[in-house]
Amino acid sequence: MRATIFEAPGKVSVVDRATPEPGPGELRLRMAAASLCASDVRVYRGEKYAKPGVVPGHEIAGVVEAVGEGAGFAEGDRVVVCPVVACGHCRFCIVGRQNRCVDRRTLGYDLDGGFAEQLLVPAELLRVGHVLPVPKSLPLDIAALTEPAACTLNSLELCEVGAGTSLLIMGAGPMGLLHLIMARALGSSPIIVSEPVAERRAIAERWGADLVLDPESQDVLAEVKAATGGYGADAVVVTVGLHAMVNPAIDYVRKQGVINLFAGFPPNQTVPFDPNIIHYGEIILSGSQNATTEQYRKTIALLGQVPHIDEVVTNRYDIEHAPEAYSSRLAMSGLKSLVQFAGVDSA
Ligand SMILES: [Zn+2]
Ligand SMILES: [Zn+2]
Repeated sequence: MRATIFEAPGKVSVVDRATPEPGPGELRLRMAAASLCASDVRVYRGEKYAKPGVVPGHEIAGVVEAVGEGAGFAEGDRVVVCPVVACGHCRFCIVGRQNRCVDRRTLGYDLDGGFAEQLLVPAELLRVGHVLPVPKSLPLDIAALTEPAACTLNSLELCEVGAGTSLLIMGAGPMGLLHLIMARALGSSPIIVSEPVAERRAIAERWGADLVLDPESQDVLAEVKAATGGYGADAVVVTVGLHAMVNPAIDYVRKQGVINLFAGFPPNQTVPFDPNIIHYGEIILSGSQNATTEQYRKTIALLGQVPHIDEVVTNRYDIEHAPEAYSSRLAMSGLKSLVQFAGVDSA
């Protein structure tokens, strides 16, 4: 099979690899689509660890091609994968927070992921329910967005975003925009987006944000207060890993509101903040990363109803051109990049 491998920071290549044979409890998928995550770009930049030689790609949709004994799926099943290999018995796993498992490994970082024609699904991943069926109505190139959309749902649920919740999304990159359209589907209002790039502000406007702000030329604090009856936003999500965005987020949230640091930040830097603002405001400052199995299930059900989801992927590559998926993200061209495999989706 043809496979993309991460060799070292700045170096991904496409090589021949032996087609994996599933053992007992394992599956082999024929990949349909895998999208590139900002965290893959962080690995490429050397800001986040991945094992040298690993096949990247953790936003995965495919079709079951070979079934190991007792794996519990049938050939031809259309599936998505939650890339988290969790132990199933630590304190986090037993309450359903497999994404915080203390013995967690992840496809695309520690184990081979989806930027290859075929993917071996480990038995430990299947055992925790991390292969999920995709309804026929959902094309597999959209189903590949289940992982980023589930991460977004985890973020929105943490912020208790629902009908009538005011939400400020800081950054309108692919993940900020995914927050916008999913929050809209959940009934959040008003939704405010702050983004310095004009092209991205235009997309946020077109995709239904109630208020779109340019932080470089507008007074975001005054605008957010004006749009929320003077209180500040019920929830603020920081979708870009810039340390300079943390203190403004603390200013924009209302008392007893929630700030979620959704993005990962460059390592070895800190942010000073005034703890009294958190104390007297009873503000919750949190982070979120990946999602629970239950949030994956909900996301698959929700994806078909999320407006503009079919416009999130703007750059498509075949496996031979997978390294270009990285360069287009580094150049910030378009939104999501997808590695797509011809002739797999039977939707
Ligand atoms: Zn991702
Ligand atoms: Zn665990």
